[in-house]
Amino acid sequence: MTIIKNLIPKLSFIVVSIFIIVGCSNSEQEESKKVASHPSDIAVLINKEFRLPENYVPNDLVYPDVPFIFNEKIEKRQMRKEPAEALKRMFEAAKSDGIHLAGVSGYRSEAAQTRLYNNYVSKDGVEEADRYSARPGHSEHQTGLSIDVSGITGEFAVEDQFANTEEAKWLDKHAHEYGFIIRFPKGKEDITGYKYKPWHIRYVGKDIATEIHEKGITLEEYYGKYSI
Ligand SMILES: [Zn+2]
Repeated sequence: MTIIKNLIPKLSFIVVSIFIIVGCSNSEQEESKKVASHPSDIAVLINKEFRLPENYVPNDLVYPDVPFIFNEKIEKRQMRKEPAEALKRMFEAAKSDGIHLAGVSGYRSEAAQTRLYNNYVSKDGVEEADRYSARPGHSEHQTGLSIDVSGITGEFAVEDQFANTEEAKWLDKHAHEYGFIIRFPKGKEDITGYKYKPWHIRYVGKDIATEIHEKGITLEEYYGKYSI
């Protein structure tokens, strides 16, 4: 036993050393980012600092029974089961208020995020792309808990002008009642790391969503973490 006890600290030193060496040789410095230890927790914090384990795929993806702005049964039409059911309840409530919502983009695999981010970088450069697009492994869409939403016509989908629509106003007022938050609110770019995205909602469950909504804070502030 004594031998084993003495060996364990040495072994962990070796493991840590390997990690540091690998980390320094990686030009993207991804190894220095923190990996979420409970990626399937509905309140998981994923941002520029915390990433998902490599190629994480949620194990309960379903097709939410709500309209989308496209017809195909493809990857981005999926979400995890719990948020998918909450989304259906929310879309039905909106409908009874005369607001017709549609899904634009839900779950996104790490491979899809890599393609998307690289396209944005070649179009706008790294600095600008980082303001609106997550790096691979850092997207909430990969958690299966987030979805971009628009009106049923798809007008202003994932565009700044969406903020002025009745659909955006309804979401801002009611999303928390169904467990969703506007993940990247106006004026919080220095905390979330992203510009205002009134269309990007994130499921965190009703209790946390209500607290975040009532306090006018972000998920980072909810956890007391400001660094990004
Ligand atoms: Zn989004």
